[in-house]
Amino acid sequence: MDPRSIPYETGRQQVADGCHAWLQPSGGWGWSNAGLVVGDGVSLLVDTLFDLRLTQAMLDGLAPLTEAAPIATLVNTHANGDHCYGNELVGRAEIVASAATAEEIDDVPPAMMSALMADDGPVGDLFRRFFGEFDFAGITVTAPTRTFSDRLGLDVGGTAVELIEVGPAHTRGDTIVVVPDAGVVFTGDICFIEGTPIAWAGPLSGWVDACDLIIDAAPAVVVPGHGPVTDTDGVRRVREYLAWVDGEARARHDQGMTAEEAARDIASELATSPFSAWAEGGRMAVNVETAFRHLDPGHEPADVITLFSRMADLEGWAPSPS
Ligand SMILES: [Zn+2]
Repeated sequence: MDPRSIPYETGRQQVADGCHAWLQPSGGWGWSNAGLVVGDGVSLLVDTLFDLRLTQAMLDGLAPLTEAAPIATLVNTHANGDHCYGNELVGRAEIVASAATAEEIDDVPPAMMSALMADDGPVGDLFRRFFGEFDFAGITVTAPTRTFSDRLGLDVGGTAVELIEVGPAHTRGDTIVVVPDAGVVFTGDICFIEGTPIAWAGPLSGWVDACDLIIDAAPAVVVPGHGPVTDTDGVRRVREYLAWVDGEARARHDQGMTAEEAARDIASELATSPFSAWAEGGRMAVNVETAFRHLDPGHEPADVITLFSRMADLEGWAPSPS
């Protein structure tokens, strides 16, 4: 089966024997994918979703599989809310994450998202345009109960699952979930497919290495954190983008440009690049900022509101109506 022929529709799709994806088109801001590995009598869930309503809908949609094989383990691939804000709904499951992800899990609390979106000035307008479809009220972030570093092997009712820490890359603690016998890798946000990767942590070279690790494992099926199911060709395209941005950012840093100038300049080349069809091209602003931070330890980091403003600017959003 060609994994790229798996329909990109909201809901559950079987991707291999005992492996399922929960997909959320369009894959844009907050519209993440999750996964389920079903063993003999127990299951492992890969990630929850951005709010409680979406996570409950997913758990209901997975119920035909989890009734006979309840979720005993939840893995959070990283600490971004669209992969962990629904944790509290997964009952008594053990929650596993890398130690670095566990440390990051409270960095962006849902109450902060609610407050940004409730702002009645331009900041509120900005954040509602990115995240207005989600409801951050009443969420209690539920932290991992078991952490690991580097690698952790798990047995899911007779199915071997390997967690591999590949961060820092997208965040400080990214983990991929490998099911060797099924030929499946759930990548979390190491893969954005048909959308632009965003490097909050970096270095970009570390993320390139993470792509190489997946490509070398040669899985038949790759379930990305955002976008349609793919194979290693999809991973190669992510790698190509990151290596390109890393090189272009370095060249402009050496020329003395600011991160903002460099991002605008590189983004102007997107239309003629192999990535012209990808959504969220404005994420270049964050990717170049992150590249500059790693090139120059003295680089003054931009705050989160500035970064979201720059992304909106690069995507040509009209100024806020207020
Ligand atoms: Zn995500």
